[in-house]
Amino acid sequence: LKKRSNNGLKSICCYCGVGCGVVINKEKNGSITLEGDKDYPVNKGMLCSKGMNLHYTVNDKTDRLLYPQMRYSKNMPMQRVSWDTALERTAAVFKTFIYKYGPDSVAFYASGQCLTEEYYVVNKLIKGFIGSNNIDTNSRLCMSSAVAAYKIALGEDTVPLCYDDIELADCFYVTGANPAWCHPILWRRVEAHKAANPHVKLIVVDPRVTDTCGIADLHLQLNPGTDITLNHAIGRVLIENGDIDVDFITNHADGFEQYSKVVFERSVAQSAGICGVSEQDIRLAAKYIGEAKGFITMWTMGLNQSAIGVNKNLSLINLNLITGHIGKPGSGPLSLTGQPNAMGGREVGGLANLLPAHRNLANATHRAEVQKFWGGTEIAAKPGLTATEMFEALNDGRLKAIWIMCTNPLTSLPNVRLAEEALKKAKFVVVQEISNKPETLAYADVILPAAAWAEKEGTMTNSERRISYLNKVLDPPGEAIADSEIICRFAQKMGYKGFDFKSPSEIYAEHARLTAKTNIDISGLSYDIIKQQGSVQWPYKKRNAVIGTPRLFTDKKFYTYNGNALISAVPDTLTSEAPNDDFPFILTTGRIRDQWHTMSKTGKVNKLNQHIKQSFMEINPSDAAALHVQEGDVTIITSRRGEVRVKAKISPEIKQGVVFMPMHWGKILNNDMHRVNNVTNDMVDPISKEPDFKYCAVSVQKY
Ligand code: SF4
Repeated sequence: LKKRSNNGLKSICCYCGVGCGVVINKEKNGSITLEGDKDYPVNKGMLCSKGMNLHYTVNDKTDRLLYPQMRYSKNMPMQRVSWDTALERTAAVFKTFIYKYGPDSVAFYASGQCLTEEYYVVNKLIKGFIGSNNIDTNSRLCMSSAVAAYKIALGEDTVPLCYDDIELADCFYVTGANPAWCHPILWRRVEAHKAANPHVKLIVVDPRVTDTCGIADLHLQLNPGTDITLNHAIGRVLIENGDIDVDFITNHADGFEQYSKVVFERSVAQSAGICGVSEQDIRLAAKYIGEAKGFITMWTMGLNQSAIGVNKNLSLINLNLITGHIGKPGSGPLSLTGQPNAMGGREVGGLANLLPAHRNLANATHRAEVQKFWGGTEIAAKPGLTATEMFEALNDGRLKAIWIMCTNPLTSLPNVRLAEEALKKAKFVVVQEISNKPETLAYADVILPAAAWAEKEGTMTNSERRISYLNKVLDPPGEAIADSEIICRFAQKMGYKGFDFKSPSEIYAEHARLTAKTNIDISGLSYDIIKQQGSVQWPYKKRNAVIGTPRLFTDKKFYTYNGNALISAVPDTLTSEAPNDDFPFILTTGRIRDQWHTMSKTGKVNKLNQHIKQSFMEINPSDAAALHVQEGDVTIITSRRGEVRVKAKISPEIKQGVVFMPMHWGKILNNDMHRVNNVTNDMVDPISKEPDFKYCAVSVQKY
């Protein structure tokens, strides 16, 4: 990559929730180059392989959708139409369904990659004007368990610490995550901190040996699904050793007595047996935590994507609470966001059970406040359909129309063949997309071409509550326009007032006003201030020289009804699909280093495709030997829902009885046999409604 001075336009990498700053330079031939932003506090100029190659995805326009397309009936071919024709017909169809079947007959399924302004207008449209809460995003597949747990434990969906706490911590407990591959730049900071401070301890909890384990002092290679048992056992040892913060527990937290009873129900030896780790290692983990002055827990999908995801999250946050490691330097529970703007989406209320600025949909006062502000229809009290529920409702006919924006559910949803059936049955499908590749396009009645990253302006919020501005550097190709403009034009075709925004900055300003006096108040934070500062962490406050709020709960007052945090005595009962004689293995899924989600962007970059060229199934050598499977053999992995066919990768780094497949591959030339979500389970956590991607029973056979 050619090095240039920081004289280009600033933006934020649109992949993971680390949210690295980039500087984009526009070249004379109309293409762009980019480099890490040396002035940006998150990455200080560093970029990982995905971020470093981001410009190729924009420069390569060969797969771009260039104009609106539509078919007048399911039997007719797609044809090019004008924006007015596409949006007027869509509005007419939506109005008909709403009139005949009610507002809950339509839904929007969006993405954690949308900009905050885009999320805001689509949320306003359906909740405030159509009168349904049927909007959900792929964040449901990613962060919703962490959201629910933060709300229960701290009274608010909020990450209480900041990345700068990394350099102040002396113990890290990283569980259900492989940040060395999935959040690389943040991980570089942990590595550098540990290298400079050898006393810093790193505990990694994962059924696989990943690159994250490379610098670990202790790897707890637990059995899948036993996270709560492990966290409780560590909690028990911390209590036994007196390594808890009695003042914090007594004066700033509720629930310790009940928690203590639950964690003492099993001996440490019993827990070790359930988890498949040694008792000594559990005690060592507790010792490291007990000795720490600053203790950070980090996690992501390994805990979130589970039928007991909320309880797993709570059992982890408990470790911060009983040790009082929250609201002080170098401490706190740091949930690593999978997508670049999952947090921004929640700020505007862009999930089926939320309202803007983290207001509560179940609260009549909150609904009335938002309705008054928007001036539209009454906001329904009933939560909308969540991601998997939308496709169930299409299947059984409750939902007639779905509008999919900026996401590729036919690769990413669990039990995905059911979702395929659902789209076949849908009466009307709108797909708002940048690329002609996603499988959803085959089911679309209307295709709307959207502007890509760097072709539109807006804001995003990263995992540490940092709001940043993304510049528009290029014009979108063909007739593509920004997602927010598409939604606003559609809303106007529906006849709704309040969508005549002249620019994303006007949308942002309205969103910011709606946060006034809430816990995430950014009402004084304008585009100009964000641009001037480079970025700001919410809530926006100006105290002395500090702009924004790097760390929350420094006063130990939480957002709960009585100001105390809640230590939850959660059960460790696993409700996932249990293996049996027919399906004896546990399948777990995840990311690889150089691909992103369903590969519609990273799959275009030759360099990134070189890392791992095709999907695979990782299996332990003793399991492979028992099945007479050798390295590279094609295997069939079957569950109660379907099957996939991929090559075996034999590795001692995965536990016996467990197999792993990457999440990224969908259909290749109409062949879906690499798509792991043919077999995954669409069972969800009862609170967060997040699917159980990390645990399903499968059989493995040589092909
Ligand atoms: Fe982009 Fe994440 Fe890599 Fe940073 S760490 S460059 S945000 S993919």
